[in-house]
Amino acid sequence: MHFEFEPIGLCRSPYTDKFGIPRQPRLVPAAEARIELLPPYDREEAFAGLEGFSHLWLLFVFHQDCLAAGWRPQVRPPRLGGRDKVGVFASRSPYRPNPIGLSAVAQHGLERQGKRLALRIAGADLLDGTPILDLKPYVPYADAIPEAEGGFANARPQARFQVGFSEQARHQLAEQDADGRLRLRELIEQVIAQDPRPGYMDRYPERREFVLQLHAREIHWRVDGDRAWVTSVHPPRAAKGSSIGL
Ligand code: SAH
Repeated sequence: MHFEFEPIGLCRSPYTDKFGIPRQPRLVPAAEARIELLPPYDREEAFAGLEGFSHLWLLFVFHQDCLAAGWRPQVRPPRLGGRDKVGVFASRSPYRPNPIGLSAVAQHGLERQGKRLALRIAGADLLDGTPILDLKPYVPYADAIPEAEGGFANARPQARFQVGFSEQARHQLAEQDADGRLRLRELIEQVIAQDPRPGYMDRYPERREFVLQLHAREIHWRVDGDRAWVTSVHPPRAAKGSSIGL
């Protein structure tokens, strides 16, 4: 059997690079995103009734690298320090036989801008440009299982770092997000607090400087014990149109 699916929309998110994307949805609530619907799905009638649901499931394709990379029967989840292996089907790794992602996110309604229809969401863990295959309402009585066991990922990960900003970074933030529309400061704080470094980084204690990208801006930060310092926030190099401009 062979199936062909086309995306119903594309996700526009602050995550313009894979490094920094949280490992599950809702860990970074400041991450506001949109699903821009593609024709013929860009019609309000296809969403009638969704306003009563606070959350929805997104089904999407891990389109960056994962399609070409193929899969292995075992993976090393960052949760286990990137050391211990588990079966791919016991993991949420993006590298799987069919690289399809599943995330529950908050939804904040439809928004029409001229011809374009988009659904606003928050807390997503999707790369900017991710193709969306489907979305479905989150149905609490069926989908929430309070007694469920979470295996090696039982507890919600604790924040790893207290995040501070250098004077330069604070100035740059004030310049680049003067009206707070991008929620850039909160976003940086929440992304870095949950420690986006790969699980194996504890083997390289000498490596302390990192760069990640949010809204196409390069964010430089440094690790110092339980603290992370944001040293600078650089404006986008060229207007490549990859940032969402929410
Ligand atoms: N909640 C989803 C995703 C978990 S894996 C699920 O359980 O299926 C989360 C990781 O997916 C992120 O850290 C990011 O690196 C990766 N990711 C997100 N969007 C992606 C995309 N479009 N292509 C490849 N990897 C992606």
